[in-house]
Amino acid sequence: MNRELIIAIDGPSGAGKSTLSKLLAQTLNYVNIDTGAMYRSVALAAQRQGIEPTDEAALGRLCDNIVIDFVRSATGERVLLNGEDVSEAIRTPEISLLTSRVSACKVVRGAMVRLQRKMGERGGVVLEGRDIGSVVFPDAEVKFFLQASAGERGRRRYEELMEKGFQVDLEQTIAEVEERDEADSAREHAPLTRAEDAVVIDSTALSIDRVLTEMLQVVRARRRTAGLPENPQIGE
Ligand code: C5P
Repeated sequence: MNRELIIAIDGPSGAGKSTLSKLLAQTLNYVNIDTGAMYRSVALAAQRQGIEPTDEAALGRLCDNIVIDFVRSATGERVLLNGEDVSEAIRTPEISLLTSRVSACKVVRGAMVRLQRKMGERGGVVLEGRDIGSVVFPDAEVKFFLQASAGERGRRRYEELMEKGFQVDLEQTIAEVEERDEADSAREHAPLTRAEDAVVIDSTALSIDRVLTEMLQVVRARRRTAGLPENPQIGE
């Protein structure tokens, strides 16, 4: 193998996937792919067009006709839906819950998985989601499963939402995070699962730096066995 690695980060919401995935990609000079943002964009488009999350046929047509892009700007990574910046619009609590319903639909998953494989097949990527190591790239060279207690994950989501100016209740946010995880874990198609060969990290009591250090250790070892050229950015 002479291409750079495919790194999968899966886990429930609020476990730290987005933060760590971005940091890892930056450190390695890899491309970061936030697959949750892709499902969120489908949910937003469905809501705007008045499509019910149970209407498979309409969701299938919708997926055939939307364009989702990631671009880097001065304010960080942005998500474009048909050219429109929807980075904020896809992160409301309402869209979070709707996304869990829309993402359970088989045609939506099929369309997103195809796109994700295309984006990642050449390597040098970090993909974060729920089914990356189990379905999208079961042969990914590095797989992490990031978890944390439900209380801690709810608290993180609460702080994130408050920071963005949403007036939310802590207990309700914890309940919504749990509801979403339950739906994501219980669904028929590609539920949230830990791949057998994933490295499990519990971030409940760990700092971001500490988790990043652990991840980089795993990546360094994997790059060595893959015979990849040294990467001074990660101290090789
Ligand atoms: O990661 P994030 O919280 O942004 O994901 C939003 C929702 O998208 C999840 O709750 C889940 O329903 C769905 N999702 C998925 N498969 C992925 C990524 C996200 O089903 N690979």
